[in-house]
Amino acid sequence: MAGVRSRRPGPFSRNVRDIVRKPGQMREVEFTAAAPERWGEGLVSVPEGTPITVEARFESVHEGILVTAEAEAEYIGECGRCLTELRESLRVEFQELFAYPGEEEADLEVQDDHVDLETEVRDAIVLSLPFQPVCRPDCPGLDPDTGEPAADGTSSDARETLDPRWAALAGLKTDADGDADADSSTQT
Ligand SMILES: [Zn+2]
Repeated sequence: MAGVRSRRPGPFSRNVRDIVRKPGQMREVEFTAAAPERWGEGLVSVPEGTPITVEARFESVHEGILVTAEAEAEYIGECGRCLTELRESLRVEFQELFAYPGEEEADLEVQDDHVDLETEVRDAIVLSLPFQPVCRPDCPGLDPDTGEPAADGTSSDARETLDPRWAALAGLKTDADGDADADSSTQT
């Protein structure tokens, strides 16, 4: 439910008066608007106030204004495996017809010569948020012993392929782990 309609155009509303009822006319716009509330309920979401960049093409057709748009936003949250903070950007696209009011029953209407893209932008973004976000595809998750994010280089695979040039780095890493000496005998 969209709730009560406000009279003032929202941040994602755009004036299309110049092409209303002029089939064949077309216009392209680009704008940035802030997410008016938190978008998404899962491990990751788009916080309120996040700038959302929208590139849209408005085409006047017989029934209304056909909107083809792309939107880009940054979302934050945590990796579903190791709980590391995530910050990623997301790009979505959609196409919707905003019908002229009064002619046919329509979900989206041109109102006062405006089209309001907020619901479409929000829905497209929320549906594209990863359900099981990971910081990287091979995130090892949490170390079962310490409950901390498992460090690279502690698995036997990583050690076998260790390049001498990285040995110094690996040394730093295992020092930080503290239990690097023990892991070769406990892992199978
Ligand atoms: Zn992770």
